[in-house]
Amino acid sequence: MTTPILRVRDISTALVGRKSVIQVLTSVDLDVFRGEIIGLVGESGSGKSTLAAAILNLLQPPQTLQSGSAFLTLPNGEEKDLLAISEGELRRLRWQNIAYIPQGSMNVLNPVLTIKRQMTDMLLHHGLNHAQALERAQAALQMVNLSSNVLNRYPHELSGGMLQRVVIATAVTMNPAVIVADEPTTALDVVTQRLILQELMKIRDTLGTTIILISHDMGVMAQVADRIAVMYAGRLAEVGSVISVFEEGLHPYTKGLIASIPQHHNERVRALPGEAPTPWHYPQGCRFHPRCPHAMAACSQALPELLVHAPQHLAACYLYEYPDNALEINRTPAQVIIQNGKGLHERSANCS
Ligand code: SF4
Repeated sequence: MTTPILRVRDISTALVGRKSVIQVLTSVDLDVFRGEIIGLVGESGSGKSTLAAAILNLLQPPQTLQSGSAFLTLPNGEEKDLLAISEGELRRLRWQNIAYIPQGSMNVLNPVLTIKRQMTDMLLHHGLNHAQALERAQAALQMVNLSSNVLNRYPHELSGGMLQRVVIATAVTMNPAVIVADEPTTALDVVTQRLILQELMKIRDTLGTTIILISHDMGVMAQVADRIAVMYAGRLAEVGSVISVFEEGLHPYTKGLIASIPQHHNERVRALPGEAPTPWHYPQGCRFHPRCPHAMAACSQALPELLVHAPQHLAACYLYEYPDNALEINRTPAQVIIQNGKGLHERSANCS
Protein backbone atom coordinates (compact mmCIF):
# COMPACT_ATOMS: atom_id res chain seq x y z
CA MET A 1 0.00 0.00 0.00
CA THR A 2 1.51 3.36 -1.04
CA THR A 3 1.15 6.65 0.82
CA PRO A 4 -2.30 8.20 0.40
CA ILE A 5 -2.87 10.67 -2.40
CA LEU A 6 -5.90 12.00 -0.53
CA ARG A 7 -6.25 12.08 3.27
CA VAL A 8 -9.71 12.92 4.56
CA ARG A 9 -9.68 13.83 8.22
CA ASP A 10 -12.48 14.43 10.71
CA ILE A 11 -15.04 15.72 8.20
CA SER A 12 -18.30 16.68 9.85
CA THR A 13 -21.14 18.51 8.12
CA ALA A 14 -24.52 19.81 9.22
CA LEU A 15 -27.74 21.17 7.80
CA VAL A 16 -27.81 24.64 9.29
CA GLY A 17 -31.18 26.39 9.50
CA ARG A 18 -32.23 29.54 11.31
CA LYS A 19 -33.35 27.60 14.35
CA SER A 20 -31.62 24.26 14.11
CA VAL A 21 -28.36 22.52 13.30
CA ILE A 22 -28.76 18.92 12.16
CA GLN A 23 -25.61 16.83 11.98
CA VAL A 24 -25.22 14.87 8.72
CA LEU A 25 -21.63 13.54 8.48
CA THR A 26 -19.86 12.80 11.75
CA SER A 27 -16.08 12.78 11.91
CA VAL A 28 -15.26 10.89 8.70
CA ASP A 29 -11.62 9.78 8.21
CA LEU A 30 -10.53 8.08 5.00
CA ASP A 31 -7.22 7.45 3.20
CA VAL A 32 -7.33 7.13 -0.59
CA PHE A 33 -4.30 5.52 -2.24
CA ARG A 34 -2.68 6.37 -5.56
CA GLY A 35 -4.03 4.41 -8.54
CA GLU A 36 -6.81 2.59 -6.69
CA ILE A 37 -10.54 2.48 -7.29
CA ILE A 38 -12.15 2.92 -3.90
CA GLY A 39 -15.86 2.30 -3.76
CA LEU A 40 -17.99 4.42 -1.44
CA VAL A 41 -21.11 2.37 -0.87
CA GLY A 42 -24.25 2.56 1.25
CA GLU A 43 -28.01 2.99 1.02
CA SER A 44 -29.53 6.22 -0.30
CA GLY A 45 -29.15 8.96 2.28
CA SER A 46 -26.09 7.41 3.95
CA GLY A 47 -23.99 10.49 3.15
CA LYS A 48 -21.89 9.28 0.20
CA SER A 49 -22.60 12.26 -2.07
CA THR A 50 -22.37 14.67 0.86
CA LEU A 51 -18.90 13.32 1.64
CA ALA A 52 -17.87 13.72 -2.01
CA ALA A 53 -19.17 17.30 -2.06
CA ALA A 54 -17.43 18.05 1.25
CA ILE A 55 -14.08 16.70 -0.04
CA LEU A 56 -14.39 18.81 -3.19
CA ASN A 57 -15.47 21.87 -1.19
CA LEU A 58 -18.73 21.95 -3.13
CA LEU A 59 -21.24 21.90 -0.27
CA GLN A 60 -24.21 24.19 -0.85
CA PRO A 61 -26.24 25.80 1.97
CA PRO A 62 -27.94 24.65 4.10
CA GLN A 63 -25.24 21.91 4.00
CA THR A 64 -22.30 23.34 5.91
CA LEU A 65 -18.85 22.06 6.74
CA GLN A 66 -18.41 21.98 10.49
CA SER A 67 -14.88 20.61 10.67
CA GLY A 68 -12.35 18.62 8.71
CA SER A 69 -9.60 18.57 6.13
CA ALA A 70 -9.04 16.93 2.74
CA PHE A 71 -5.30 16.85 2.05
CA LEU A 72 -4.55 16.28 -1.65
CA THR A 73 -0.95 15.42 -2.62
CA LEU A 74 0.13 17.39 -5.70
CA PRO A 75 2.61 16.05 -8.33
CA ASN A 76 5.44 18.00 -6.62
CA GLY A 77 4.74 16.15 -3.35
CA GLU A 78 3.19 19.18 -1.65
CA GLU A 79 -0.07 18.59 0.25
CA LYS A 80 -2.97 21.04 -0.07
CA ASP A 81 -5.99 21.05 2.19
CA LEU A 82 -8.86 21.51 -0.28
CA LEU A 83 -11.02 22.81 2.56
CA ALA A 84 -8.61 25.52 3.67
CA ILE A 85 -7.26 27.04 0.42
CA SER A 86 -8.66 30.11 -1.36
CA GLU A 87 -11.42 29.82 -3.97
CA GLY A 88 -8.95 30.87 -6.70
CA GLU A 89 -6.45 28.16 -5.76
CA LEU A 90 -9.22 25.60 -5.55
CA ARG A 91 -10.38 26.56 -9.05
CA ARG A 92 -6.84 25.96 -10.37
CA LEU A 93 -6.67 22.51 -8.73
CA ARG A 94 -10.12 21.40 -9.91
CA TRP A 95 -9.99 19.44 -13.19
CA GLN A 96 -6.19 19.61 -13.23
CA ASN A 97 -5.60 17.66 -9.98
CA ILE A 98 -9.02 16.49 -8.88
CA ALA A 99 -12.11 16.17 -11.07
CA TYR A 100 -15.74 15.40 -10.39
CA ILE A 101 -18.23 13.34 -12.36
CA PRO A 102 -21.56 14.47 -10.88
CA GLN A 103 -24.71 12.43 -10.56
CA GLY A 104 -27.20 12.57 -13.46
CA SER A 105 -25.16 13.01 -16.63
CA MET A 106 -28.40 13.70 -18.52
CA ASN A 107 -28.80 16.97 -16.66
CA VAL A 108 -25.31 18.34 -16.10
CA LEU A 109 -24.57 19.36 -19.68
CA ASN A 110 -25.88 22.68 -20.99
CA PRO A 111 -28.58 21.84 -23.61
CA VAL A 112 -27.89 24.91 -25.78
CA LEU A 113 -24.11 24.49 -26.14
CA THR A 114 -22.29 21.95 -28.30
CA ILE A 115 -20.20 19.26 -26.63
CA LYS A 116 -17.12 20.91 -28.13
CA ARG A 117 -17.87 24.22 -26.45
CA GLN A 118 -18.55 22.53 -23.12
CA MET A 119 -15.42 20.38 -23.18
CA THR A 120 -13.03 23.06 -24.41
CA ASP A 121 -14.27 25.97 -22.25
CA MET A 122 -12.72 24.49 -19.11
CA LEU A 123 -9.44 23.77 -20.93
CA LEU A 124 -9.24 27.34 -22.27
CA HIS A 125 -9.89 28.56 -18.74
CA HIS A 126 -6.85 26.53 -17.60
CA GLY A 127 -4.58 28.29 -20.11
CA LEU A 128 -4.61 26.00 -23.16
CA ASN A 129 -5.05 27.53 -26.62
CA HIS A 130 -7.88 26.47 -28.96
CA ALA A 131 -5.83 23.91 -30.89
CA GLN A 132 -4.50 22.29 -27.70
CA ALA A 133 -7.98 22.26 -26.13
CA LEU A 134 -9.49 20.59 -29.21
CA GLU A 135 -6.72 18.00 -29.31
CA ARG A 136 -7.23 17.15 -25.62
CA ALA A 137 -11.02 16.89 -26.05
CA GLN A 138 -10.61 14.54 -29.04
CA ALA A 139 -8.11 12.34 -27.17
CA ALA A 140 -10.42 12.17 -24.13
CA LEU A 141 -13.39 11.16 -26.28
CA GLN A 142 -11.29 8.47 -27.90
CA MET A 143 -10.40 7.16 -24.42
CA VAL A 144 -14.11 6.54 -23.75
CA ASN A 145 -14.75 5.07 -27.20
CA LEU A 146 -16.57 8.05 -28.70
CA SER A 147 -15.88 9.48 -32.13
CA SER A 148 -14.80 13.13 -32.34
CA ASN A 149 -17.97 13.76 -34.41
CA VAL A 150 -19.67 14.00 -31.03
CA LEU A 151 -17.98 17.37 -30.53
CA ASN A 152 -20.35 19.03 -32.99
CA ARG A 153 -23.47 17.57 -31.40
CA TYR A 154 -25.80 19.01 -28.77
CA PRO A 155 -26.61 16.95 -25.63
CA HIS A 156 -30.15 16.10 -26.82
CA GLU A 157 -28.65 14.37 -29.88
CA LEU A 158 -26.84 11.81 -27.69
CA SER A 159 -28.06 8.74 -25.79
CA GLY A 160 -27.76 8.44 -21.99
CA GLY A 161 -24.69 6.23 -22.30
CA MET A 162 -23.01 8.68 -24.71
CA LEU A 163 -23.77 11.61 -22.39
CA GLN A 164 -22.24 9.73 -19.48
CA ARG A 165 -19.13 9.06 -21.59
CA VAL A 166 -18.89 12.76 -22.53
CA VAL A 167 -18.99 13.70 -18.83
CA ILE A 168 -16.30 11.11 -18.04
CA ALA A 169 -14.20 12.33 -20.99
CA THR A 170 -14.51 15.91 -19.73
CA ALA A 171 -13.23 14.79 -16.33
CA VAL A 172 -10.10 13.19 -17.83
CA THR A 173 -9.14 15.94 -20.29
CA MET A 174 -6.66 17.49 -17.83
CA ASN A 175 -5.44 14.08 -16.65
CA PRO A 176 -6.25 14.70 -12.96
CA ALA A 177 -4.68 12.44 -10.34
CA VAL A 178 -8.05 11.87 -8.64
CA ILE A 179 -11.57 11.55 -10.05
CA VAL A 180 -14.66 11.44 -7.85
CA ALA A 181 -17.42 9.66 -9.80
CA ASP A 182 -20.84 9.97 -8.17
CA GLU A 183 -23.16 7.15 -9.28
CA PRO A 184 -21.89 7.20 -12.90
CA THR A 185 -23.99 4.21 -13.94
CA THR A 186 -27.33 5.14 -12.39
CA ALA A 187 -30.25 5.17 -14.85
CA LEU A 188 -28.27 3.28 -17.50
CA ASP A 189 -29.17 -0.17 -18.81
CA VAL A 190 -26.98 -3.05 -17.63
CA VAL A 191 -25.02 -3.35 -20.89
CA THR A 192 -24.14 0.37 -20.94
CA GLN A 193 -23.46 0.21 -17.22
CA ARG A 194 -20.86 -2.50 -17.78
CA LEU A 195 -19.23 -0.53 -20.63
CA ILE A 196 -19.00 2.61 -18.48
CA LEU A 197 -17.41 0.66 -15.64
CA GLN A 198 -14.92 -0.89 -18.07
CA GLU A 199 -14.04 2.60 -19.29
CA LEU A 200 -13.41 3.83 -15.75
CA MET A 201 -11.11 0.84 -15.17
CA LYS A 202 -9.33 1.55 -18.45
CA ILE A 203 -8.75 5.16 -17.33
CA ARG A 204 -7.29 3.95 -14.05
CA ASP A 205 -5.10 1.37 -15.81
CA THR A 206 -3.81 3.62 -18.62
CA LEU A 207 -3.54 6.98 -16.84
CA GLY A 208 -2.96 5.74 -13.27
CA THR A 209 -5.92 7.83 -12.09
CA THR A 210 -7.24 7.29 -8.57
CA ILE A 211 -11.01 6.91 -8.68
CA ILE A 212 -13.47 7.37 -5.81
CA LEU A 213 -16.53 5.56 -7.12
CA ILE A 214 -19.83 6.22 -5.38
CA SER A 215 -22.57 3.64 -5.75
CA HIS A 216 -25.29 1.95 -3.72
CA ASP A 217 -24.69 -1.24 -5.69
CA MET A 218 -22.49 -3.78 -3.88
CA GLY A 219 -22.45 -5.95 -7.02
CA VAL A 220 -20.83 -3.11 -9.00
CA MET A 221 -18.28 -2.62 -6.22
CA ALA A 222 -17.42 -6.32 -6.18
CA GLN A 223 -16.54 -6.14 -9.85
CA VAL A 224 -14.70 -2.84 -10.04
CA ALA A 225 -13.32 -1.59 -6.72
CA ASP A 226 -9.97 -2.42 -5.13
CA ARG A 227 -11.18 -1.27 -1.71
CA ILE A 228 -14.60 -0.52 -0.31
CA ALA A 229 -15.68 2.07 2.24
CA VAL A 230 -19.18 1.35 3.56
CA MET A 231 -21.19 4.33 4.82
CA TYR A 232 -24.19 4.28 7.12
CA ALA A 233 -26.05 7.29 8.48
CA GLY A 234 -23.24 9.80 7.98
CA ARG A 235 -20.44 7.58 9.31
CA LEU A 236 -18.01 5.05 7.89
CA ALA A 237 -19.03 1.59 9.07
CA GLU A 238 -16.26 -0.46 7.44
CA VAL A 239 -13.25 0.02 5.16
CA GLY A 240 -11.17 -2.76 3.58
CA SER A 241 -10.04 -4.44 0.39
CA VAL A 242 -12.87 -5.77 -1.76
CA ILE A 243 -11.75 -9.33 -1.01
CA SER A 244 -11.61 -8.85 2.76
CA VAL A 245 -14.90 -6.95 2.92
CA PHE A 246 -16.78 -9.52 0.85
CA GLU A 247 -15.14 -12.61 2.30
CA GLU A 248 -14.51 -11.51 5.86
CA GLY A 249 -16.88 -8.59 6.28
CA LEU A 250 -16.97 -7.39 9.88
CA HIS A 251 -19.82 -4.92 10.26
CA PRO A 252 -23.35 -6.36 10.47
CA TYR A 253 -24.54 -3.64 8.05
CA THR A 254 -21.97 -4.70 5.43
CA LYS A 255 -23.02 -8.31 5.90
CA GLY A 256 -26.65 -7.29 5.38
CA LEU A 257 -25.78 -5.41 2.17
CA ILE A 258 -23.88 -8.41 0.81
CA ALA A 259 -26.64 -10.83 1.78
CA SER A 260 -29.15 -8.67 -0.12
CA ILE A 261 -27.38 -9.29 -3.47
CA PRO A 262 -29.31 -12.03 -5.28
CA GLN A 263 -27.01 -14.92 -6.29
CA HIS A 264 -29.35 -16.86 -8.56
CA HIS A 265 -32.22 -16.17 -10.92
CA ASN A 266 -35.59 -16.26 -9.16
CA GLU A 267 -33.94 -15.89 -5.74
CA ARG A 268 -35.92 -13.71 -3.36
CA VAL A 269 -34.05 -10.55 -2.43
CA ARG A 270 -33.14 -10.62 1.29
CA ALA A 271 -33.49 -6.91 1.98
CA LEU A 272 -32.18 -5.40 5.19
CA PRO A 273 -35.05 -4.96 7.64
CA GLY A 274 -36.10 -1.43 8.52
CA GLU A 275 -34.93 1.83 6.97
CA ALA A 276 -31.79 3.91 7.28
CA PRO A 277 -32.44 6.90 9.56
CA THR A 278 -32.47 10.44 8.20
CA PRO A 279 -30.17 13.00 9.88
CA TRP A 280 -33.21 14.27 11.82
CA HIS A 281 -33.62 10.86 13.43
CA TYR A 282 -30.13 9.52 13.99
CA PRO A 283 -30.42 7.29 17.06
CA GLN A 284 -28.04 7.68 19.97
CA GLY A 285 -25.09 5.27 20.03
CA CYS A 286 -24.36 3.11 17.01
CA ARG A 287 -26.70 4.46 14.35
CA PHE A 288 -27.31 0.94 13.05
CA HIS A 289 -28.44 -0.48 16.40
CA PRO A 290 -32.23 -0.35 15.78
CA ARG A 291 -31.71 -2.62 12.72
CA CYS A 292 -28.82 -4.69 14.00
CA PRO A 293 -29.48 -8.35 14.89
CA HIS A 294 -26.42 -8.34 17.19
CA ALA A 295 -27.07 -5.14 19.14
CA MET A 296 -25.87 -5.17 22.75
CA ALA A 297 -26.46 -2.81 25.64
CA ALA A 298 -23.30 -0.83 24.79
CA CYS A 299 -24.53 -0.22 21.24
CA SER A 300 -27.16 2.34 22.23
CA GLN A 301 -24.80 4.29 24.48
CA ALA A 302 -22.07 5.82 22.29
CA LEU A 303 -20.86 5.84 18.69
CA PRO A 304 -18.33 3.06 18.05
CA GLU A 305 -14.97 4.24 16.67
CA LEU A 306 -13.67 3.12 13.27
CA LEU A 307 -10.82 0.85 14.40
CA VAL A 308 -8.37 -1.51 12.70
CA HIS A 309 -9.44 -5.11 13.38
CA ALA A 310 -7.35 -6.88 10.72
CA PRO A 311 -4.55 -5.71 8.37
CA GLN A 312 -5.92 -2.79 6.32
CA HIS A 313 -9.44 -3.65 7.51
CA LEU A 314 -11.34 -1.22 9.72
CA ALA A 315 -14.80 -1.41 11.23
CA ALA A 316 -16.88 0.67 13.62
CA CYS A 317 -18.61 -2.02 15.67
CA TYR A 318 -18.53 -3.02 19.33
CA LEU A 319 -18.68 -6.71 18.41
CA TYR A 320 -14.96 -6.61 17.72
CA GLU A 321 -14.13 -4.75 20.88
CA TYR A 322 -15.75 -7.67 22.73
CA PRO A 323 -14.22 -10.58 20.73
CA ASP A 324 -16.42 -13.26 22.34
CA ASN A 325 -19.28 -11.78 20.34
CA ALA A 326 -17.45 -11.65 16.98
CA LEU A 327 -19.50 -12.95 14.07
CA GLU A 328 -18.69 -16.00 12.04
CA ILE A 329 -17.33 -15.34 8.58
CA ASN A 330 -19.39 -16.57 5.65
CA ARG A 331 -17.21 -16.87 2.55
CA THR A 332 -19.54 -18.41 -0.02
CA PRO A 333 -21.59 -15.46 -1.28
CA ALA A 334 -18.58 -13.21 -1.81
CA GLN A 335 -16.73 -15.75 -3.90
CA VAL A 336 -19.76 -16.24 -6.09
CA ILE A 337 -20.21 -12.49 -6.56
CA ILE A 338 -16.58 -11.85 -7.40
CA GLN A 339 -16.40 -14.81 -9.75
CA ASN A 340 -19.47 -13.52 -11.56
CA GLY A 341 -17.61 -10.26 -12.07
CA LYS A 342 -14.46 -11.86 -13.49
CA GLY A 343 -13.21 -10.09 -16.57
CA LEU A 344 -14.22 -6.71 -15.23
CA HIS A 345 -12.31 -7.02 -11.97
CA GLU A 346 -8.78 -8.12 -12.55
CA ARG A 347 -6.90 -6.54 -9.67
CA SER A 348 -8.98 -7.64 -6.71
CA ALA A 349 -6.83 -10.65 -5.88
CA ASN A 350 -3.76 -8.43 -5.62
CA CYS A 351 -5.11 -5.71 -3.41
CA SER A 352 -4.53 -5.80 0.29
FE1 SF4 B 1 -24.58 -3.83 15.73
FE2 SF4 B 1 -23.63 -2.90 18.02
FE3 SF4 B 1 -21.99 -3.36 15.98
FE4 SF4 B 1 -23.69 -1.33 15.91
S1 SF4 B 1 -21.99 -1.58 17.31
S2 SF4 B 1 -23.28 -2.76 14.26
S3 SF4 B 1 -25.47 -2.18 16.93
S4 SF4 B 1 -23.21 -4.87 17.12
